[in-house]
Amino acid sequence: MIATRNLVHRYGDAAAVDGVSLSIPDGEFVLLAGPNGSGKSTLVRHFNGLLDPDRGEVLVDGTPVGDDLVAARTRVGMVFQNPRDGFVAPLVGADVAFGPENLGLSREEIERRVDAALAAVNMAGRRDERVDDLSGGERERVAIAGALAMEPDHLVLDEPFTGLDAPARESVVEQLRGLRDSGTGVVLVTHDLRDALALADRVVALADGQVAVDAPPAEARDELPELGVRLP
Ligand code: ADP
Ligand code: MG
Repeated sequence: MIATRNLVHRYGDAAAVDGVSLSIPDGEFVLLAGPNGSGKSTLVRHFNGLLDPDRGEVLVDGTPVGDDLVAARTRVGMVFQNPRDGFVAPLVGADVAFGPENLGLSREEIERRVDAALAAVNMAGRRDERVDDLSGGERERVAIAGALAMEPDHLVLDEPFTGLDAPARESVVEQLRGLRDSGTGVVLVTHDLRDALALADRVVALADGQVAVDAPPAEARDELPELGVRLP
């Protein structure tokens, strides 16, 4: 469970997140929408302690994120907007192994996790390929595998479709559907709901750093166009 209570985050004098209280249970698929600049990235970067609140709090399984960063980062996996920035090793397998290695797991357990994570994104058998040689969609899937290898309860993806063509987007959507079906919670950040509205249990839309909509997709549909969110 991820929970924020009256979370405020300021850059200078401007509040990018302005009093957000949300609870995201394990296994829930949340679409986090809202126009550019509405505070989506700032909000989710609190979920594993990449940013600290100026006011309010953020809890993962009841513990403030800042009190146990390792626990938060184990339970909440993060995939960034531009996966290119997130790769730490030249080869696919080594990159995916990086997180589990930092957890101090046995070699055997690391190998098991890397294989399972790559299989989950349809990249089995490709450990020795160079990340640089992959297509954009494949790179995105390796980034997802890297987060999955931590076996998180929640996977947070910040604008994962940016720069992907339609087939690559569909492929990533398929991986997300599989994750949802296997019980991993997903927080999918996007300003464009075309790809993923059908997967969501819940749509949360931000406007000016505040929650403007929090509803099941069928209800949220009516309110979203006013916020500048693109619908399918
Ligand atoms: P979104 O992800 O919804 O596009 P962001 O969380 O990136 O929104 O940004 C929210 C607001 O905070 C915007 O007005 C943005 O310009 C501002 N902002 C984001 N990051 C920074 C930063 N590092 N320094 C100053 N202002 C920032
Ligand atoms: Mg953003």
